[in-house]
Amino acid sequence: MIYNRVVIKYEILIDCNENFQNKKLEVCYMGSKVLGKFLKENLEDLKSKGLYNVINTLKSSNGPVITIGDRKLINLSSNNYLGLATNPRMIEATIEATKKYGAGAGAVRTINGTLEIHIELEQKLAKFKHTEAAIAFQSGFNCNMGAISAVMNKKDAILSDSLNHASIIDGCRLSGAKIIRVEHSDMVDLRNKAKEAVESGLYEKIMVITDGVFSMDGDIAKLPEIVKIAEEFDLITYVDDAHGSGVLGKGTGTVHHFGLSDKIDFQIGTLSKAIGVVGGYVAGSQNLIDWLMVRARPFLFSTSLTPGAAGAAIEAINILTESSELNDRLWENANYLKKGLKELGFNIGNSETPITPCIIGDEVKTQEFSKRLFEEGVYAKSIVFPTVRKGTGRVRNMPTAAHTKKMLDEALAIYVKVGKEMDIIK
Ligand code: PMP
Repeated sequence: MIYNRVVIKYEILIDCNENFQNKKLEVCYMGSKVLGKFLKENLEDLKSKGLYNVINTLKSSNGPVITIGDRKLINLSSNNYLGLATNPRMIEATIEATKKYGAGAGAVRTINGTLEIHIELEQKLAKFKHTEAAIAFQSGFNCNMGAISAVMNKKDAILSDSLNHASIIDGCRLSGAKIIRVEHSDMVDLRNKAKEAVESGLYEKIMVITDGVFSMDGDIAKLPEIVKIAEEFDLITYVDDAHGSGVLGKGTGTVHHFGLSDKIDFQIGTLSKAIGVVGGYVAGSQNLIDWLMVRARPFLFSTSLTPGAAGAAIEAINILTESSELNDRLWENANYLKKGLKELGFNIGNSETPITPCIIGDEVKTQEFSKRLFEEGVYAKSIVFPTVRKGTGRVRNMPTAAHTKKMLDEALAIYVKVGKEMDIIK
């Protein structure tokens, strides 16, 4: 008897693939009534509040200029910092690795999905990060889910910066450890809370965890001070350097930028941003990596990186270690855009890296600003609550090594026009 099921008929208009354009498919959905009601009500609620994120489809690669629909836009929204996602050497490396090892790895690493190319990648990553060893995961998100819970548990505590990335927050929650929220980059608060946690005698291990570069503001974690506090209280140190790797320290990342490679227990990186591919990794001591290989659940229970992704990531590290050209160009472009936006009167907050927010404040105005930029030819996404705190809505700009000065000048001219029209700048 299926008295609690409903049948809903949908007409789906598939519009992302030219071959299917305007073709209507009728799909029957026979699902739970309670789920149907939950989804319908909540989707309508989000839409009525203007909080439903409409995802755009790119018809082009994610380069400095993208095509959405029939429009070409200057792209200031990707994490493709060095332009490596479309670099011909990377594409070639993907093809070569795919030809040699196949499209997929075929299994979880611990069963028989570890290929030579995974080991080669991990050895390269360790060398690049100046650590004894490294372990690759399928994504940066997965990495945080696996690494934190492999060492922390309900007898432990984690001091976590209030602006840490969602994957860190979720990784901490999964571990079951007590999460102690620390005011953003506030070293007095961190020290006080570390002292209190140690003196309470309640915890077996205490970890301090931070982004290397904060993804929505572009400021850099105060790693030298964090390390001092960690040494005073014997805290485990964990830095998620998703936005610092390939960017700071001539590409080697925030930890190396501060000369702290031997002091940070966990260096997390992603292969999806400056490296231009997909995947994540932890670099650290040999014992740490050996432990993660037997305890990090996404490593144990999820199929490994595709050979093509591993091959391309290896090539990215080759490119980064051969020359600082792309890193230099990234910083040149970032400084140019930051200076331009600041001189125009935009509030770029405390950004110290290529991540350049234009903080507008009001959520509706932020979304309208992003929409107007789009109409004029700039793709810069609005970031509002819950991704950032209420009242701190912003449009986030990500200049890359692949942008030309001409593109950045065009973008700045559009910023002036829309900024003035909306009374954001004078
Ligand atoms: N950590 C941080 C700080 C990030 O910004 C991101 C990506 N937004 C991730 C982890 C997740 O990385 P990935 O996209 O490789 O899953």
